[in-house]
Amino acid sequence: MEEVADTFDSAFTKAVDLGNRLAGKDQEADLWDIADGLLAGAVQYWLYARQPCGDARCEDCLPINTAEARLTELKRLIGQLGSLRMAGHAIAGIQEATEGGARA
Ligand SMILES: [Zn+2]
Repeated sequence: MEEVADTFDSAFTKAVDLGNRLAGKDQEADLWDIADGLLAGAVQYWLYARQPCGDARCEDCLPINTAEARLTELKRLIGQLGSLRMAGHAIAGIQEATEGGARA
C-alpha cells in the first residue's frame, strides 16, 4: 500500500512540477490554459489506464465497464481527491501559486 502512495505522490508531484515549469518557461502563458492542458492529459491517461479487461462479469471492472460508468467513476474520484486535497493542501497550494508557483 505504501508503494501505491509513493507512486500516487510521485505522479501528483510531477504533474504539479510540470505545470510550474511550463508557467515558468512562458511568462505570458495563461495558467488556466496550462491547467486545462494538464487536466486533459491526466484524463486521457486515466481513460487509457482504466480500461475494462473484457470479461463482462469482472467485478473489478464493474465501475468502468461502460462509458457512463467510467464517467461516473471519474467524477467520484475527482470529488474524492478534491475533498482530500482541499482538506490537506489546497490552501497552502493556493497561497504558493499566488506567490510564484503551485505546490504538491
Ligand atoms: Zn476486469
